[in-house]
Amino acid sequence: MSVFNFGAGPAMLPIPVRDRVKEEWLNWRGLGTSVAEIGHRTEIFRQAMVKIENDLRELLAIPNNYKVLFLQGGGQGQFALVPMNLLGKNPAADYLIYGLWSEKAYQEAERYGAIKAINLCNDTPPFTLLSQAAWQPNNKAAYLHYCSNETVDGIKLNYIPQSQAPLAVDMSSDILSEPIDINRYGIIYACAQKNAGITGITIVIIREDLLEQAMPLTPSVFNYKKQAIEHSLYNTVPTFPCYIAGLVFEWMKAEGGLTAIASRNQEKAARLYNVIDSMSDFYFNKVAKPYRSIMNVTFFLKNIALEKEFIVGAEAAGLMYLQGHRTRGGFRASIYNAMPEEGINRLIEFMREFAKRKR
Ligand SMILES: *Cc1c(COP(=O)(O)O)cnc(C)c1O
Repeated sequence: MSVFNFGAGPAMLPIPVRDRVKEEWLNWRGLGTSVAEIGHRTEIFRQAMVKIENDLRELLAIPNNYKVLFLQGGGQGQFALVPMNLLGKNPAADYLIYGLWSEKAYQEAERYGAIKAINLCNDTPPFTLLSQAAWQPNNKAAYLHYCSNETVDGIKLNYIPQSQAPLAVDMSSDILSEPIDINRYGIIYACAQKNAGITGITIVIIREDLLEQAMPLTPSVFNYKKQAIEHSLYNTVPTFPCYIAGLVFEWMKAEGGLTAIASRNQEKAARLYNVIDSMSDFYFNKVAKPYRSIMNVTFFLKNIALEKEFIVGAEAAGLMYLQGHRTRGGFRASIYNAMPEEGINRLIEFMREFAKRKR
């Protein structure tokens, strides 16, 4: 029986990507060795990196005045590296907060500058977010930071914030899920293990003019400008995670690019929310409709006593890691790009059957 990983990350890979890794593992490009066993500065690997970057540029339509970096340290590494790289000339930054990740980013940044928190979310469900008109940006800040999708509660900010300061965005859990206009942003970052492959690299997309404001203490391997000059090869780039990301990008292009993928994502999420809403005596979601995440669908049981049984039954049906975040309880179906229709169908079938049996 095929199993589906609904965990928040590391997430499942597209099946064609897994097949290719298996096929190429011991003989990458006819070298008679695996991609993980050759130098990052070999001509063949450099060429591969150029293709990986170009495919990402094509998918996201990244303009030429933006650099693309593949760094280590994960999404949370960037919580420190964004302020280190951007607050060297002006210590002020705004942080919009509406969930666990944006809160963590704010706490880390506070160590490096004069950070202002702007809370967008109410404390009790249904969760709604403040509109642009309800808060004031500091237009003189070095940047305004926010998270485009709060993975833990399944909440998505449904507008692009306006500030004269450049936008710095954590897109760890929704990068590559839909087309975006890169020109609206100063810097975008995302760990890879949700929509861009496996853990080990973090993608940073940054406008060139922002490369000049690092704090002197910024470690060289994490200095955006130094890495940009070296095309992410200042030190040994995580070669295998880059290779996997490259396969994911090729798969996404073959699937029709971000427009096709976005409409499939919309449909997958809508079907799950419909099931939850249509059985509201049994299941419920805490997020007001305009702010519901397309990537992380959270839901709860009216009867909490049945939670354990739900998880056990789901796992027996091949539906893995549906537990909600450890601080939140309930359930969370993370349905990133690689989650096929079949996984959604099977989850819906299980939810209907479980409700029928336990109502
Ligand atoms: C998963 C996630 C992170 C954490 O990234 P790590 O690679 O574990 O450090 C950060 N931000 C968001 C929005 C996430 O979903």
